[in-house]
Amino acid sequence: MGRYAWDMGLDYSATRLILIDGLARARSTTGVFGPKRVASQAILLTQLKNGSRISEARDAVDAWARDGSREHQVRARKEGSVRKCDQCGRTYSKRARVNTVERHFAQSGHQPKFTELPSADTRTMIVPAEVGDADRVAVRRGLESGVTAKSLVNFSRRHLGFNTHSLRYANTTHQGLPREQGGLGREPQVIAKIQHRKNLNLVVDYFSQKVADALLREDARVVLASPRQETMVGGSTEE
Ligand SMILES: [Zn+2]
Repeated sequence: MGRYAWDMGLDYSATRLILIDGLARARSTTGVFGPKRVASQAILLTQLKNGSRISEARDAVDAWARDGSREHQVRARKEGSVRKCDQCGRTYSKRARVNTVERHFAQSGHQPKFTELPSADTRTMIVPAEVGDADRVAVRRGLESGVTAKSLVNFSRRHLGFNTHSLRYANTTHQGLPREQGGLGREPQVIAKIQHRKNLNLVVDYFSQKVADALLREDARVVLASPRQETMVGGSTEE
């Protein structure tokens, strides 16, 4: 799976339990680390359950800690960002396949300088029920004492042993794998919408690979099992 180097193949259900357990332990952690840990675990759970990017999960948990509402629109990261020509002010999407701002410079002869604008694009995020209302105070304190996207990446790597982005992919796998294989069997189009992914091909390709791997394992088991069966049925004297 070299193409998805960040994908550690985390099992969704097992990871969810690990994070719930971590949150429970964080609640009883005393001292200054307590609130930081509560906030970190709550954000990682939110990332897993929404299949989001870490910053989107942090924004959602931050908004919930402030107003108590579990559903928020947060700024979608990365894919929606926009480039503005410094000379004429026209804006161009960054995610377009062709680098449109470059083409604009070539055609207009404007100074090839642009400014990156934050995306105006938003996505729906929901703080999951596993994070309790009683956690709000600790979460707010944790965030105030400096739980950032960067510190979350470090926290996850150090204490949990995985990259936060693999939580996004654990969610993808969970939603898309067929029910017989323990998933929810959802269509890639729906998953792409839920996760606010612009690149549907990536979701389809990722899944095809997951399903293919699972089928390959299944096939391997069948082949291994058959010689034994034959021996039993035939009752032959073969070794
Ligand atoms: Zn221009």
